[in-house]
Amino acid sequence: MAFSASESMKKLRQERRKHGQCAQCGNPSEKYLCERCNGMRKKPEPKEFREYPMQRKLKKPLSDRRLYEDMIAQELRTSDIAAYCGVTQRTAEKWIFEGSVPHEERVTKLCRLLKREVEYYYPLYKWSSKK
Ligand SMILES: [Zn+2]
Repeated sequence: MAFSASESMKKLRQERRKHGQCAQCGNPSEKYLCERCNGMRKKPEPKEFREYPMQRKLKKPLSDRRLYEDMIAQELRTSDIAAYCGVTQRTAEKWIFEGSVPHEERVTKLCRLLKREVEYYYPLYKWSSKK
C-alpha cells in the first residue's frame, strides 16, 4: 500500500509522538514539538530598530526635536513611552510629535525614562504644587 508523501509524514509524526519524540525532528520531547523546533516555528524576531519615517509621521517639521531625538537615541518607540508612563500610544505621540505637554505625574515619568530634567524639555513647565 503506497502512501503519499504527506500521509507518510503524518504517520511518521504520529509514530514519533507515540514514542515521546518531537514530531518534527524526532528528538526526545514531552511536547508535540521540542523546544528547538518550536522556537524555529515562532515568528521571526522583530526587525532592528530604525528611525521613524518622519515625513510620514509629521505633516510639518517638528518645532522642538528634543524629545524625539532622545527617544530615537535611546531606541525607544512611542509604544514604549506609552507603556512606561501609563498612557495611550496616541498620547505619547502627541508629546513627541505635536508639542503636547504631559500632566505632572506623567512628565516626571517621561523624563525619568529619557534621563532628563523636566526643564530640559519644558523650561517653562508650570508645576501646580511642589516639584
Ligand atoms: Zn524537534
